[in-house]
Amino acid sequence: MITAKYYQRIANRNISGILKHLGQTQFWPYEKIRKYQFYKLKRLLDHAYAHVPYYKRIFKEIGITPKDIRNFNDFKEIPILTKDIIREKFHHLIASNISKDELHLNSTGGSTGEPLSFYQDKNYEQWADPARIRGLYHIAGCEPGDTCAVLWGATRDLKKDYSLRERLRDYCKYGHILLNAFNLSNDRKWSFYKLCRLLKPKLLIGYVTAIKDLAFFLDEYNLEFPTLQGIILCAETVEDYSRAYIENIFRAPTYNTYGGRELSLIAMECSYNNGLHEVSENNYVEFETINLEKYKNAGNLIITNLNNYGMPFIRYRIGDIAIPGISQSCGCGRGLPLIAKVIGRTTDVFVFPDGTRVAGEMFIHLMKDFPLREYQFVQVSCSRIILRYKRSDLMSEELKRTILRTYQKYLPQGTTFDFEEKEGFEKTATGKFRFVVNNSSSGLL
Ligand SMILES: [Zn+2]
Repeated sequence: MITAKYYQRIANRNISGILKHLGQTQFWPYEKIRKYQFYKLKRLLDHAYAHVPYYKRIFKEIGITPKDIRNFNDFKEIPILTKDIIREKFHHLIASNISKDELHLNSTGGSTGEPLSFYQDKNYEQWADPARIRGLYHIAGCEPGDTCAVLWGATRDLKKDYSLRERLRDYCKYGHILLNAFNLSNDRKWSFYKLCRLLKPKLLIGYVTAIKDLAFFLDEYNLEFPTLQGIILCAETVEDYSRAYIENIFRAPTYNTYGGRELSLIAMECSYNNGLHEVSENNYVEFETINLEKYKNAGNLIITNLNNYGMPFIRYRIGDIAIPGISQSCGCGRGLPLIAKVIGRTTDVFVFPDGTRVAGEMFIHLMKDFPLREYQFVQVSCSRIILRYKRSDLMSEELKRTILRTYQKYLPQGTTFDFEEKEGFEKTATGKFRFVVNNSSSGLL
């Protein structure tokens, strides 16, 4: 798509320097990357100590200053930043020397089902954007503006699908062919497939659940998707068998990615399938030891973003569990450290009798506007959904009505949406609870 390529070239002018830099740094030796991270970390700590009230207090409490942090081991002295602390100390985490106009408010439904709001500054975005271009396009031999089939949620407002105007704009500006992954009916998949046949995308990007769902559709109707250079898997954990199935149906290699709205792209996979390379130029990743019988060496991910000075996330517990890579060398020549596997991020698809399929991601995404700390959506039958919430979240009748109104827009007529109060939630083997569960037999993929 020539318009999109041209547009992207102009739009990305101001980040072209960082993009070029990231093209080189990824091939630096491991040790050099660690030194570079430490340099960026020290700068962030100096800033946080001088200008962020929360960190000024933390340093005082533990009786050190940034000068005392001489290596990554010393860095562990800084207490972990949890989502509860962010909610509680929100205003104390904002830097006093950065204007509010420079800050962008963002939020997440949270992969663990705990909504969270936070600020990100311009510097954060200037590093996040090129890292995304590197990890989602360059990795598969593509460029921004190349035609790309996207299975993603309509995130800007609450409606059932993208409008024609949105579709045209996204195609002309980004080269994107959109399919709303939050609601995948067969009709929508048919028109998306026909559009892809016509426009021949080079790349397919989307939620694992949605891509797998499209693969089942192609398989069922014996349809051949246009030849792709790669498939970028986002937002969820992918099992090997699902991946093999997707690669087989689309006849193209998959590239796994891991990220979150709080920290953008955290890790990306290369074509050597050695695990995921950390985006070390933007984030410093640690593994907090936990004991999981099923997964040896697995740890809670503790991540420091090295670029967001507006509201620094230092040693942030994102709520995902991962296994570090055993070897730190990869055949691709990248020195970026490796994560072997991110575990525990999976969602179900809810299926309804009229053929509507709603990805669990949508339920989580919509939850970001509500104050529930822990919740779980369960489809108990083909026409009944229950939202379970924790008693301590003190759900009011008015909040229930607002939640109901929001979710009913997405559900087929005749679906019952009920609430159920719980003392707490059972954790799975990975120590997390499943926040979207399909217990009805119709939803088994
Ligand atoms: Zn590699």
